[in-house]
Amino acid sequence: MRVYIIGAGPGDPRLLTLRGRDLIASCPVVLYTGSLVPKEVISHASPTARVLDSSGMTLDEITAIVTEARDANHDVARVHTGDPSIFGSTAEQVRRFEALSIAYEIIPGVSSFTAAAAAIGRELTLPELSQTIILTRAEGRTPVPAGQHLHELAPHQATLALFLSITLLKSAMEELIPSYGEDCPVAVVHKASWPDQIIVRGTLSDIAQKVREARINSQAMVLVGRVLTAEDFAESRLYAADFTHRFRRATKPE
Ligand code: SAH
Repeated sequence: MRVYIIGAGPGDPRLLTLRGRDLIASCPVVLYTGSLVPKEVISHASPTARVLDSSGMTLDEITAIVTEARDANHDVARVHTGDPSIFGSTAEQVRRFEALSIAYEIIPGVSSFTAAAAAIGRELTLPELSQTIILTRAEGRTPVPAGQHLHELAPHQATLALFLSITLLKSAMEELIPSYGEDCPVAVVHKASWPDQIIVRGTLSDIAQKVREARINSQAMVLVGRVLTAEDFAESRLYAADFTHRFRRATKPE
């Protein structure tokens, strides 16, 4: 018996991995985060499977269901939104499973930050502009550790992907302005990859107002950085004609 912690992807059910789909189809117990995982993903479950929505459950209740499945020798598909390694509350479940000697395996998924980048059609790393992406959140009810507040991360001027921050947008943007500048581009993608996806583009100084006007207050990814609009970035060395690497000889002298 095993618990498979499966990343369901950002919303579009076709962004579920083949492995995730096959495990959802074969597990006798399917436990999914109903608030965020689309119904189509769960439709792969067997008609005889026990399919349960965990959004109203406590950690103890989730653990009790998994323990019951263990006693019946039934595999469990534990389906989470995006990729389970990012703001997934999966570690606390895994800790319970380990304490109960229940085997588990994690199946990665497409995270909402990559789905948001795809939605706006941009690369988040560009030569000489940003070679770093910081995946983080604004401080809300969940405290952020010392050294990781937005104003402390801002001096790196890395591309930022803010999760769980849409209701804190105004103050988050204000924390970034001293390092990134008021005109730094921001893109907010609400429900990336869903049919009702909305994209709002702006700058650190005007995005909060635009997002308020668009009435977006949930399920949104906030991307920040010059990479979002830059056109005059350097070309990478990978495809440069004077650059030799393992898979290609230079066609032009260096
Ligand atoms: N593990 C998930 C993140 C879960 S935390 C992942 O890898 O994507 C929940 C936050 O993820 C939301 O507050 C929002 O910031 C972001 N999110 C999840 N799905 C999204 C989507 N389809 N579009 C935009 N943001 C999304």
